[in-house]
Amino acid sequence: MTAISLHPALDNGIAATAPDFAGGTLSCHCATDAVTVALKGNVAHNHACGCTKCWKPKGAKVSVVAVIGKDNLTVTANGQKLKVVDAAAAIQRHACAACGVHMYGRIENSGHPFYGLDFVHVELSKDRGWAAPGFAAFVSSIIEAGGARPEQMGEVRARLKELNVEPYDCLSPPLMDAIATHTAKAKGVLAV
Ligand SMILES: [Zn+2]
Ligand SMILES: [Zn+2]
Repeated sequence: MTAISLHPALDNGIAATAPDFAGGTLSCHCATDAVTVALKGNVAHNHACGCTKCWKPKGAKVSVVAVIGKDNLTVTANGQKLKVVDAAAAIQRHACAACGVHMYGRIENSGHPFYGLDFVHVELSKDRGWAAPGFAAFVSSIIEAGGARPEQMGEVRARLKELNVEPYDCLSPPLMDAIATHTAKAKGVLAV
C-alpha cells in the first residue's frame, strides 16, 4: 500500500538537519524576477501544519513551516511584489502577488507570545541542512482545509507518527507551554 501523500518535504523522506548550518535563501515560484529572502542561521520549531492559513504547495495536505528571529530575515530581491495576505491576522503573511507563495509571516503585535519570530517555509530554498520538521500542528484542521475526509485522519496521523512527526491538534507541548507562560506572566499569575 502506498503511504498517504502529505507534503513533498515529508513524502520522500525528511532531509537531515545540518549542525552549524549558516542559513540560505528562499525564492518564490516566479520564473522571472523572483522574490528572494535571505535567512541567517537555521530555523527553529520546523513543523508540518494542518491549518487553513499557512501556504502549502498545490496538492499538499499540510504546510511545512518554521520560525526564525526577525532580525535574521532580509528581503533581498523584488520585495515590491510582496503583499500582506490578511492585515487583520496575528501573523501578517507576506505573499508574492504574482505566484501566491508566502515568503514570510511576521507578528507586529509586541504583546504576542511569538513576537520577534518570523514564519518561513524552507522548502523554498535550494540550500540543504535546514532543521527537519519535528512535529505536526493543527492536524484536525486538515479536514477544514479540505485536504482530507474525517475517515482518512487515522491514516494521516499514522503516517506522521511513522515519519517521527508527532501529530498534535494544537501546537506542540513546548510551544503551548511557551504561550501559557507568556500569558501567565502578563496576567501576573506567574512571577517573572
Ligand atoms: Zn512569485
Ligand atoms: Zn498553519
